[in-house]
Amino acid sequence: MLQEQEVHAAQMEQTFIAIKPDGVQRGLISEIVSRFERKGFKLVAIKVVVPSKEFAQKHYHDLKERPFFNGLCDFLSSGPVIAMVWEGEGVIKYGRKLIGATDPQKSEPGTIRGDLAVVVGRNIIHGSDGPETAKDEINLWFKPEDLVSYSSNAEKWIYGE
Ligand code: GDP
Ligand code: MG
Repeated sequence: MLQEQEVHAAQMEQTFIAIKPDGVQRGLISEIVSRFERKGFKLVAIKVVVPSKEFAQKHYHDLKERPFFNGLCDFLSSGPVIAMVWEGEGVIKYGRKLIGATDPQKSEPGTIRGDLAVVVGRNIIHGSDGPETAKDEINLWFKPEDLVSYSSNAEKWIYGE
């Protein structure tokens, strides 16, 4: 039987989270980071970057047929973005829960978009929607050596011994 620690290690995941230019301009960086941090997830990479339009098109490649694609890519490349990798058990799926529904009108109160955004075109944050996209997006935004591996003393209090 697996030890509990091994179970936790096997379930550790990483996801790509970005605060979009509207979240940065509105001074919501610390508010958003703190929601992931207080939950118990671990920040393993972070940078401030202004993506080019070509880069934004790569990031949103799966939406290229949508009518809002061009405006979305213009917007993502319009100013600084906070690009992050967060790690933890179930972080991909639960990160999406913390973020809330794509359209802030439909996001529950208590979620980031529900509490802090109003319209779908300015919904302040991006989060990977599954294990494959998480891997692809982390690889697009970061080099492997940008990701820091460390343990924190809080982990035994978050996950148990
Ligand atoms: P997400 O994964 O919840 O961010 O949603 P999607 O992957 O479906 O879409 C990516 C981003 O495109 C969203 O976060 C919105 O900023 C934007 N978006 C999605 N749907 C619409 C829409 O109907 N209109 C506009 N203007 N933007 C949209
Ligand atoms: Mg998406």
